[in-house]
Amino acid sequence: MSKQPNIVFIMADDHAAKAISCYGGGINHTPHLDRIASEGMRFDHCYVTNSICTPSRAAILTGTYNHVNGVTTLDTHINNRLPNVAKHLRSGGYQTAIIGKWHLGEGKEHEPSGFDFWSVVPGQGEYFDPTMIEMGVEKEVPGYATDVITDKSLAWLESRDQSKPFFLMCHHKAPHREWEPHPKNRDLYQHDIKVPETFNDNYKNRAKAAAEAKMRIKDDITYADLGLVQPEGGAEIGERATANKNDTRRKIPNPENVSGLRLIDKDTGEVFTFHTNEELSHFKYQRYLKRYLRTIESIDESVGRVLDYLEEHNLSDNTIVIYTSDQGFFLGEHGWFDKRFMYEESFQMPFLMRYPREITPGTVCDRVICNVDFAATFLDLAGLSIPSYMQGISFRPLLTGKTPKHWSDIAYHRYWMHRDRDHNAYSHYGIRNQRYKLIYWYNEGYDLPGTNHGGEDREWELFDCEKDPLELFNVYADSEYESVVIEMTALLDNKMAEIGDEPEH
Ligand code: CA
Repeated sequence: MSKQPNIVFIMADDHAAKAISCYGGGINHTPHLDRIASEGMRFDHCYVTNSICTPSRAAILTGTYNHVNGVTTLDTHINNRLPNVAKHLRSGGYQTAIIGKWHLGEGKEHEPSGFDFWSVVPGQGEYFDPTMIEMGVEKEVPGYATDVITDKSLAWLESRDQSKPFFLMCHHKAPHREWEPHPKNRDLYQHDIKVPETFNDNYKNRAKAAAEAKMRIKDDITYADLGLVQPEGGAEIGERATANKNDTRRKIPNPENVSGLRLIDKDTGEVFTFHTNEELSHFKYQRYLKRYLRTIESIDESVGRVLDYLEEHNLSDNTIVIYTSDQGFFLGEHGWFDKRFMYEESFQMPFLMRYPREITPGTVCDRVICNVDFAATFLDLAGLSIPSYMQGISFRPLLTGKTPKHWSDIAYHRYWMHRDRDHNAYSHYGIRNQRYKLIYWYNEGYDLPGTNHGGEDREWELFDCEKDPLELFNVYADSEYESVVIEMTALLDNKMAEIGDEPEH
């Protein structure tokens, strides 16, 4: 019998594929992440079933959709008595650990279960000197979060029981907002980062949800997001000026006339002065992108350390290394930051996998996979049986260029938090195959925590992802696409029936 492979699952928080250089975004350079792709496989169509942190993590752990595992919003935490992939691997002979971000709730009912060792940050965690809950005990750990999580991961690998295969989930806090870089990376990116062509999107030809979302870099980013403060006694500008000036969650004013607005870098004291609205918008985008990319610099370095450790300890050949993110993120596309939507930038998860025993180096997979499929795939690779409650399907055959039986190339997405306070994103569900994307904005909130009641008109969207990759034209009502609408609606219907999710009428 061949030895069971080790699995190192590295997951970042909000890391868009575009910000990994092997995906060709052209905005940064990530040599260590690229190593996983050049020595393994890059997946170009990996999707999240609910583009926010908590539900994505629940889907990954349990191999089930959110209406089944119950974790539909940021405020519905996991019941840790549910079976999960770590429990199955553990009973199948693995030593298991999770280190870093958990974000599935705290306390006895929600803390990690199925892990021999766990050390996680409460909630979103902090970038500096993070508090960690380690096997139930809270402690503050000095250092930068990405380094702390990496150090603890390597220490666990070093101290593990070497007679067993291991499953390590290394979950970074970065690059989640508020995008605080390590001090040594604060001066990276002195040049301007290119601005996406949809930055000034006017949201025409789309459902109302796009125009209504409060995720615009120009209008909705806050002082805290950009590490800024206002000068003492400085001029208050704009209608939002009545809000508490010391509240860093407050949005940065962006009225017609900004002349004289001054902002200060909270770390260096550098003062920025603005004369025009355009100057301020440009500044916000650049500042956001640079802070975001600087935090990724530390992740890239961390991944290099993990790969080096495996190499040095002769573990590379028999260890599966995965890099992914709990969802994608908008980096100025459509003028936005944040996620939540089924539009491509937030729906797509980066997914890189290295496994010399089965993957030919430097290969690319364009089949559709989903985060719900991860758990089944891990169990398959470990030679363990996949329990029938799991709804995902193992994509292990794709690693060697074969297509798994019953492979549908369909990804299903559902977002429940209708018009949450901070982002005003509308609830929706839909499916994507390799060519088209169908979205139904059903715009209901129910009584779930963190949601509003609906009342908005319901709308459908269809995008031709080949002809319109930037998703600027909803062709749902276009007669040319009549048969596509029928076909995609049937696929959506079948998918919801298959996974047992309830359609909205
Ligand atoms: Ca996230």
